[in-house]
Amino acid sequence: MKTIGLIGGMSWESSLEYYRIINETVKELIGGLHSAKSIMYSYDFEEIESLQHQGKWTKLMDYMIETAKRLENAGAEMIVICTNTMHKVAEGMQQNLSIPIIHIADATARKILEKKFQKVGLLGTKFTMEEGFYKDRLKKEYGLEVIIPNNDERQMVHDIIYKELVLGQLKEHSRKVFIDIIQHLAVQGAQGIILGCTEIPLLIKQEDVDILLFDTTTIHARSAVEYALND
Ligand code: GLU
Repeated sequence: MKTIGLIGGMSWESSLEYYRIINETVKELIGGLHSAKSIMYSYDFEEIESLQHQGKWTKLMDYMIETAKRLENAGAEMIVICTNTMHKVAEGMQQNLSIPIIHIADATARKILEKKFQKVGLLGTKFTMEEGFYKDRLKKEYGLEVIIPNNDERQMVHDIIYKELVLGQLKEHSRKVFIDIIQHLAVQGAQGIILGCTEIPLLIKQEDVDILLFDTTTIHARSAVEYALND
């Protein structure tokens, strides 16, 4: 079994989920008393959030490369970045590392293609919804059409993530906002919805909506385990 290197704390609310799902998946797949070999570095999210909103992505990338190298030196054989948003710097990181990054968008795209879907909705931070690093990868590498909410809806989703979900606040009103937005995407032809922020699955569950949800936290964590167990 390979050792999984996790870059977490973005936020720790979802890093907890990664740790739980990774260990549960190892138990499910190989049983016994088995659990995952893993090492997590967990950031102070205040520092990360502030650099993101100041647009200091080069600094963030350098920080992430340094952290990934520390994990590699500690014995990690792969890197799992426990957030969709920070995959904005994943390609630059990979060029500086000798161990693979398990990319969250790749893992998610493979699940979407298993369902033979072609058009999906994407919810996440404004960075993830609006910039190319996520949508373009899904389009270019996997041929998927990705639609996003309108401007006001994107702002609402972004604010709920940064003002509530990363603080562990799960509000009924916000759940309704998400459900409405998901329904708007379904009306526009989305066949499934990517919960492209690792805290959204804390708020929105499959039973809340009729359309199929792609929970990136679970998909990513399980894909790391599959790679770890694939000798
Ligand atoms: N965890 C979130 C994500 O998956 C947002 C926090 C962050 O900015 O990294 O995008």
